Amino acid sequence: MTAPARARASQELIRAEEPVLAHNYHPLPVVVARAEGAWVEDVEGRRYLDMLAGYSALNFGHRHPALVDAAHRQLDRLTLTSRAFHHDRLAGFAERLAALTGTDMVLPMNTGAEAVESGIKVARKWAYDVKGVPADHATIVVAADNFHGRTTTIVGFSTDETARAGFGPFTPGFRVVPYNDLAALEEAVDETTAAVLIEPIQGEAGVLIPDDGYLAGVRELTRRAGCLFVADEIQSGLGRTGRTLAVEHEPVVPDVVLLGKALGGGIVPVSAVVGSREVLGVLRPGEHGSTFGGNPLAAAVGTAVVELLETGEFQRRAAELGTVLREGLAALVGRGVVGFRARGLWAGVDVDPALGSGREISERLMREGVLVKDTHGSTIRLAPPLTVTGEELRGALGTLEKVLTS
Ligand SMILES: *Cc1c(COP(=O)(O)O)cnc(C)c1O
Repeated sequence: MTAPARARASQELIRAEEPVLAHNYHPLPVVVARAEGAWVEDVEGRRYLDMLAGYSALNFGHRHPALVDAAHRQLDRLTLTSRAFHHDRLAGFAERLAALTGTDMVLPMNTGAEAVESGIKVARKWAYDVKGVPADHATIVVAADNFHGRTTTIVGFSTDETARAGFGPFTPGFRVVPYNDLAALEEAVDETTAAVLIEPIQGEAGVLIPDDGYLAGVRELTRRAGCLFVADEIQSGLGRTGRTLAVEHEPVVPDVVLLGKALGGGIVPVSAVVGSREVLGVLRPGEHGSTFGGNPLAAAVGTAVVELLETGEFQRRAAELGTVLREGLAALVGRGVVGFRARGLWAGVDVDPALGSGREISERLMREGVLVKDTHGSTIRLAPPLTVTGEELRGALGTLEKVLTS
């Protein structure tokens, strides 16, 4: 194809979406056709460094050879049984995921929102069966500015009006308190409380990292109050912050951890609720389920993901390259960056609003070959694959500097 013909292909594909696709997203005007590692290529053959990594669904990069190989091998053998029958990949996946996360039991699901819904159901069941909360009176305490997914129950306890408005009526039984505020949490928890559900780092809110001691405080408070600590690690978990789980930055073991995104290796949706036998043991046959949850392909890919994380290599990379990221961003403070928060290979960067909205900065970065996503206002989020090299990361920081200072 000649260059102009290829250039038309991109605009035509974007225009073709308009009449047939629900407008629930506002993507950057890039049409990706292939990808490998930390790099994607658009239909016109332009290459971009992927500094979003599918919101952490691509922690191991695009098409990691070990993950693609595991998927191929499973595709040639068995893809779906439903949970009506056993299959030969599920026990191994559950054992290894439980061992990786230091828990007893695994409830496999597909998407993150399903894991959150499942965590809510398990916490309520535990409150009635074990804690003795009167029927239909269980409460769950959540944090303001949370992001836990898009189902009607979940958006019902969101504080983002765009996510909520027009979708009610909502599920009752949730109390919202400010994030990173132990006193407010203490006040909201009472004898009806089944669980406190929080993100150890609030991703969509702009990579908000709570004060040191907050997570340990939540653990202590929930233990004292006799309710569960449910940590949504769907975005923060599986290596992103330099540890397997983000809660590990404090000496904290939640009762229940929700996993998703990277658990599917960027290939298939795989999520899971992991927790103690005391909690997940409350479920009996027929009380909860999913046709696709824990299917053989998902289990094969999920097992390969766990194998990658068992080496500790990715956690180490995220921690080491996290230093490069932090130092690079610190050097830009006052030069277009007004502030940032970073842990491991994950950062929320507040850009001087005078330079443009987060969206505009993202579009400028795109034109320079770096893909990122804005969150709110003038904040952009950086979350490259954990396979990114130091050189690639420095290159992206250089591009950010160029975009902000020229
Ligand atoms: C993405 C995300 C979810 C929802 O996951 P989906 O797979 O999109 O349903 C839930 N919680 C957190 C923290 C997330 O980042």
